[in-house]
Amino acid sequence: MTASFRLGRIAGVPVGVNWSVLVIFVLIAGGLSIVNLPRGYPGYAGWAYALAGILAAVIFFLGLLAHEVSHAIVAQRNGLQVQQITLWLFGGVAEIRGEARDPGAEVRIAGIGPLVSLIIGVVFGVAAAIVAAVSHRGLFFGALAWLAAINLALAVFNVLPAAPLDGGRLLRAALWKWRGDRVWAAIASARAGRVLGAALIAVGLWQFLTGNGIGGLWLALIGWFLWGAAGAEERQTRATQALAGVHVGDVMTAQPSTVSPDASVAEFVDHDLMQHRHTAFPLTDAGRPVGLVTLDRVRQVPFERRQNTKLRDIACPADQLTLTTPQEELTELLPRLNGCSDGRALVVADHQLVGIVSPSDVSRAVEHRALRHGTMPGNV
Ligand SMILES: [Zn+2]
Repeated sequence: MTASFRLGRIAGVPVGVNWSVLVIFVLIAGGLSIVNLPRGYPGYAGWAYALAGILAAVIFFLGLLAHEVSHAIVAQRNGLQVQQITLWLFGGVAEIRGEARDPGAEVRIAGIGPLVSLIIGVVFGVAAAIVAAVSHRGLFFGALAWLAAINLALAVFNVLPAAPLDGGRLLRAALWKWRGDRVWAAIASARAGRVLGAALIAVGLWQFLTGNGIGGLWLALIGWFLWGAAGAEERQTRATQALAGVHVGDVMTAQPSTVSPDASVAEFVDHDLMQHRHTAFPLTDAGRPVGLVTLDRVRQVPFERRQNTKLRDIACPADQLTLTTPQEELTELLPRLNGCSDGRALVVADHQLVGIVSPSDVSRAVEHRALRHGTMPGNV
């Protein structure tokens, strides 16, 4: 999920908001101010409903953020990195890199989110009860009661046992613990996600057809999202399974041809490119990787400027390279193969460049594995 706006960092993790949150914010704040609150608690001025609706929507999103931040903090405590937290159309996502090392860690990371939502719901429920006891059931009570209900609903929905929901992670952890097979557990919980997705689509469409317009469509939309995400998770699990146990050192091209960062583009094209058939060349300085030049980058330099342009000026710079070691598992490297190094990673040992991993190295590894296990590459 891409963030359209950055809000800052919480617990060291960048927090962003996708523009689609605006849609939900307007739906929630508008629905509360114009429909729910005036209907349930009549007799207030229009601005009071608007203020209560907007404040409740803001607090709802803060609760959603607290839910995701709690996942992120517990994931970090269990040795995982968290890429970013993004709020979007269907709530929030904490993008966690890598996998929990045991079912217990999985339970802690997945369970904390719904627990936080539950606590927030209970706190607002108690606050609403106190307000009802000492004063009357007015607009303030209404906003508190709505916040209690929505956070409790969030907690309950999220523990439904279906990936990619938190409950799907809990199911995966339980099955993993039971059978000792993480891949089987992940595929089972992804299948449960498909079933839940299909059920929500069916119920949503039925509601829509029997008169509950927007609510039904919304449910169907959530179901459709779950269906797609669960399918993607199953495919991802199978691909990861095909590469389990393969290390970077097994697939890398060792001792790649390197070039000097001070060479000109013209020299590079006339000499290095003629001698080697590679499409990417690491730049090294005393054996250390300092950049990466790809043919695409060379092509962008106009012919007349090739003489005066140095390779270091067009290379993917050192701080943006994807670096790895021969010992790293390929499945851990794959999610990091993005950015300016064009799907390639430089392999480093003792600060010295020892190899390069390209997309063709990876697909070759997948095919070899598939051949050895007797499955077609398309099925891995
Ligand atoms: Zn969650």
